[in-house]
Amino acid sequence: MPIRKTIALVAHDHRKQDLADWVTYNADTLTAHRLVCTGTTGKLMADVLGDGAEITRLKSGPLGGDQQLGAMIAEERIDILVFFWDPMEPQPHDVDVKALLRIAVVYNIPVACNRSTADFLVSSPLLPDAYVPQRRDFSEYLGRSLD
Ligand code: PGA
Repeated sequence: MPIRKTIALVAHDHRKQDLADWVTYNADTLTAHRLVCTGTTGKLMADVLGDGAEITRLKSGPLGGDQQLGAMIAEERIDILVFFWDPMEPQPHDVDVKALLRIAVVYNIPVACNRSTADFLVSSPLLPDAYVPQRRDFSEYLGRSLD
């Protein structure tokens, strides 16, 4: 991971205010990094952070934004995922949510799903460091016999 990270920010509707509060509190730290957001979250983050932030907005989550983020993780273009998903409401795109969380684990990127974890992440001495996440060796899986 480079020193300047690419941080994905996503929040379900009932968690957006929570994410906006966290981002406001950590604005100085976060604006030093590139931010990638699903559509509606990204609009809110741009309102909160103003011109100082580099924000890439993807599609809205239910319209494919979570899948776009998952693809970026698989392409190793996302270093950290902050995803405030809603534990109290089913989502129309629950399968996409599950897929996003799964691929983040496959690629061993740090994931925060609540403010406490996000606080620990953003205050980690590893954040401004050129940290290299260990990746599992999938060569056995890729070379498996299909007979
Ligand atoms: P949104 O998507 O930022 O467009 O609301 C979030 C999500 O549900 O994944």
